[in-house]
Amino acid sequence: MSGPRVEVLALGGTIASVADPGGGVSPGLTAGDLLASVPGVGALARIGARNLANVPSTEIAPPLLLEVLAAIRAHAAEGVAGVVVTQGTDSLEESAFFLDLVHDGDMPVVVTGAMRNPTLPGPDGAANLHAAIACAADPAFRGQGVLVAFDDVIHAAAWVRKGDTSATGAFGSPAPLGWIAEGRPVMRAPARRRPAIAVPEGAAFPFAPILKPGIGDEPRLVGAALEAGAEALVLDLAGGGHVAACWLDALDAAVARIPVIFASRTRGGRVLSRTYGQPGAEIDLLRRGLVGSGDLDALKARLAIGLLLMAGAPERFGDYADLSWNPDAARV
Ligand code: ASP
Repeated sequence: MSGPRVEVLALGGTIASVADPGGGVSPGLTAGDLLASVPGVGALARIGARNLANVPSTEIAPPLLLEVLAAIRAHAAEGVAGVVVTQGTDSLEESAFFLDLVHDGDMPVVVTGAMRNPTLPGPDGAANLHAAIACAADPAFRGQGVLVAFDDVIHAAAWVRKGDTSATGAFGSPAPLGWIAEGRPVMRAPARRRPAIAVPEGAAFPFAPILKPGIGDEPRLVGAALEAGAEALVLDLAGGGHVAACWLDALDAAVARIPVIFASRTRGGRVLSRTYGQPGAEIDLLRRGLVGSGDLDALKARLAIGLLLMAGAPERFGDYADLSWNPDAARV
């Protein structure tokens, strides 16, 4: 057929899983197998498919994602309508946001996967892949950055989160960009784009651990992280961004050396900036030089500060933490 061309880059995960001789399932199907399982997909686009890996998503790390980015750029240069990335769902929200931060063109990139593997009744991989290809082929989704199509809902990578271990509707975002209706994508609202982060060739993603204190926890791991060579620290804190006062000396020592970002472990709402005044609350933390994660949760804040460190521009973190709509914001 003629029409738009879409390239599928497969990385593995549940969507590609087969029975494992040792028990359970593990990745085994190829990109071509995935495509062959989707009825009617050939009517959407001319589709190419290949594997860049075939792994569980916990094995996907920044070097592989930079390979994916290189493939995306090569396909964009060829004039492809869109690219679909299939992968495991466990780290999908991180991969999608990582790619969103570095993808510098208008070509749609749509990430998807499956919650039910192909050995189960009602596997969702084919429906999700069909939706992702439809989105990638649709010019209405140009300029929206990286999207996640899952369970007939289309999410912006910056907002999407996995919130369930097994439900087919595991992915959610506070305000989805659109949905799939009768097999076709419909856009409800545009995504907010920020300039892509330019990562220099050969740069390595820094060690930037996340610490999530529970009640009564001691700050011993702050010093340990510095000793271990942390180049940034992300704190996943209670409520609007609150930590026990006994952490403050350790955090002062960290802030003197590296960027220290604080996020909210609630994973809902924006981290606070001017509400609570007690020691260890957001006003105090900001005064001490810690940086709030804005709309980002700890996982996404870690990716943003890590990529900005690679680009030599950690001071630009605030531009990537604010996901609110701003019509004057720089476009790629
Ligand atoms: N363990 C799988 C993975 O993330 C889960 C999935 O794909 O849903 O690779």
